Amino acid sequence: MTVFAKIIDREIPADIVYEDDLCLAFRDIAPKAPTHVLVIPKKPIASLIDLTDEDEAIVGRCVLVASRVAAGLGLGSGYRLVVNCGPDGGQEVPHLHFHLLGGRSLGWPPG
Ligand code: 5GP
Repeated sequence: MTVFAKIIDREIPADIVYEDDLCLAFRDIAPKAPTHVLVIPKKPIASLIDLTDEDEAIVGRCVLVASRVAAGLGLGSGYRLVVNCGPDGGQEVPHLHFHLLGGRSLGWPPG
């Protein structure tokens, strides 16, 4: 069971900013920007690599949630939505998650 599954099940605490039937959004415990929220599906999909056709609506919902959370948190001047995937992508937690980062100017390209 991943740490994110435990957050979904309320086994460990998190600063939750949004929840619906498919998704949960909560603040990252080690923020990399003034605003750093993780949007995750409640379904335990390990990574983008593991997506199937049946996950289309879930992924769509997560992206929509990220957009709405960004608006709600006042990120009108822009933000970044990032998915780290697999070892080369820097993914540490094997539960699909979208990093919503904002509140400062973000460099490009990423490291
Ligand atoms: P990854 O490197 O897998 O793309 O990102 C994992 C993210 O999860 C990291 O930004 C890390 O700070 C965050 N994280 C890891 N454990 C916890 C936790 O217990 N609670 C919260 N809120 N975030 C966590």
